[in-house]
Amino acid sequence: MIVQKFGGTSVKSLARIKNVASIIARAAQHDTVVAVVSAMGDTTDYLVKLAHQASGAPNRRELDALLATGEQISAALVAMALDELNARAVSLTGAQLGITTETIHAAARIVDINTARVRRHLDQGLIVVAAGFQGTTPDGDTTTLGRGGSDTTAVALAAALEASTCDIFTDVSGVFTADPNIVPTARLLKEISYEEMLEMSRVGAQVLHPRAVELARKHKIPVRVRNTFDPEHEGTILKGADQMEIYRPVSGVTVDRDQARLAILKVPDRPGIAGEIFGALAEHRVSADMIIQAFHEDRSVNDITFTVKRSDLETARRALEEAASRTGAEGVLADEDVSKVSIVGAGLMDQPDVAARMFSALGKAGINIKMISTSEIRISCAVSDKDAERAVRVVHDLFHLDERAPD
Ligand code: ADP
Ligand code: ASP
Ligand code: MG
Repeated sequence: MIVQKFGGTSVKSLARIKNVASIIARAAQHDTVVAVVSAMGDTTDYLVKLAHQASGAPNRRELDALLATGEQISAALVAMALDELNARAVSLTGAQLGITTETIHAAARIVDINTARVRRHLDQGLIVVAAGFQGTTPDGDTTTLGRGGSDTTAVALAAALEASTCDIFTDVSGVFTADPNIVPTARLLKEISYEEMLEMSRVGAQVLHPRAVELARKHKIPVRVRNTFDPEHEGTILKGADQMEIYRPVSGVTVDRDQARLAILKVPDRPGIAGEIFGALAEHRVSADMIIQAFHEDRSVNDITFTVKRSDLETARRALEEAASRTGAEGVLADEDVSKVSIVGAGLMDQPDVAARMFSALGKAGINIKMISTSEIRISCAVSDKDAERAVRVVHDLFHLDERAPD
């Protein structure tokens, strides 16, 4: 049994839906197939826009009910196109797939999949076409899994059904050393470890949803990223770090443009302050990253600066302003002009000079670094939006990511 997932660009038009149906039908000649589809093209963006025209602050339950329809449309159309090819298929919504999620709207996590109905259809010899990106609460309300979440539907179904592979078909030939739409000379990676991919996804490599990579790692699902428009291409395979055949210090460079930074100024320096500030953010489900605490000359106050998703900025700013007046801080600053450029690689920790080289190269290119953060396998710099793409290219060049022998 295999799971095949097709993203928005792959099902953008009826002609593309027919192309996808032929890929699925071909696979179904020798495998049992569950196909997962995204909404057609920019449908989700369009639905979000409609919702904001209907209401200044769309009700989150209704927004999920609306967004889930995008995937339902493409699932039904793909099933019809399969019928046309004499491949019998049935489309299923999140609820019909037995996908139960937390009772949280807009970014719910899957808690359980009851595969009984899917298995019944597969046993009947049908191809199951699953609407991606959605599930249902235990009470039966529709939820969605967060933008890009159809990848997660695919990997979660592959885990629940114990599928042998999960193929993520998209509009590029696999995972590259950088977004090939930003760096045309980016190199395709034949393999990447779950850990490196997870880090790349978290810091902006939109090609896979981070939650999908987490699930793949947990259940050791061999996920392959492949090109819908070049289906014979092998693409990229995700594997355990211990199974990697190739060692490389730096795997890739990413950019996340959906960033903003906030600072709370002159907060009294006493135990419990950071807990109070970040607790207030967590209450509003805002996660903070790149946290920097800097001290002042008189040492009785600190400035705390951090990044949030740009879409969380207003919520975070309000929570921070409340925290500022509660704690006696001087005030709050917000900066929307932030993109995060990161390098990811399993070998970074063995190379103490990598960070310095990255900062110098950005400096030489006249790119100002607003903030820095590092992990064992990542170095991130916050830069101005206007510099972001150039920064990706500078760093990609610096580490010769396009020049080394193809792997
Ligand atoms: P889909 O609609 O198929 O889910 P996405 O737009 O979510 O597709 O993801 C594919 C896109 O991810 C590519 O078109 C590419 O621009 C972008 N991308 C960003 N970083 C990378 C990377 N390192 N390798 C490949 N693609 C990347
Ligand atoms: N259609 C959803 C989105 O645009 C989910 C997905 O494509 O994975 O975010
Ligand atoms: Mg996607």
